[in-house]
Amino acid sequence: MELYPTVFIDRDGTINIDAGYINHPDSFVMYPYAPQAVRMLNEAGFLAVVITNQSGLARGFFTIDIMNKVHDKMNRLLKRGGARIDGLYYCPHDPNAKVEEFRAECGCRKPKTGMIEAALKDLPVDKSRMYFIGDKYSDMRTGFASGCKTVMVETGYGKGELLFKSSGWERRPDKTAANLLEAVRLILKKEV
Ligand SMILES: [Mg+2]
Repeated sequence: MELYPTVFIDRDGTINIDAGYINHPDSFVMYPYAPQAVRMLNEAGFLAVVITNQSGLARGFFTIDIMNKVHDKMNRLLKRGGARIDGLYYCPHDPNAKVEEFRAECGCRKPKTGMIEAALKDLPVDKSRMYFIGDKYSDMRTGFASGCKTVMVETGYGKGELLFKSSGWERRPDKTAANLLEAVRLILKKEV
């Protein structure tokens, strides 16, 4: 089986504006460069896989049906830009959840690695060429623990975390980038 280099991509703050808990498709505002970034990965033969914590499900802020509508919008906007994602994994859990079905001390909520492990079971990922792009240190930690090279973007929480929190980090991201498009460019230029 042919295996493909793979970029795991956080959603909120990386692909779209982090508007808190996105509880309606209208609140999902994609960064204008996101389709180009994903399309560049598609064209270069990389898998592009979205990895997102959605504890708003556990907290009762929105339902799976609403989240699916948000993802339909994301996919529609990507498709309009000639791009597609190859997989999407979300973690619905929270240990103190109001919604009983999602109340769990799970293994998938980032910085844990369960969503990556699920993707590795489902998709033909070349494990020697995996990358994680995200705007939070928790994304980087998932990347570190899964054997990904990591790029932290300055959109979303990224700039603030890099400026005000990074002195306490055990390990630095491999690279930082202004945004998702710059992060993809670095990866494709083999600068990560
Ligand atoms: Mg994020």
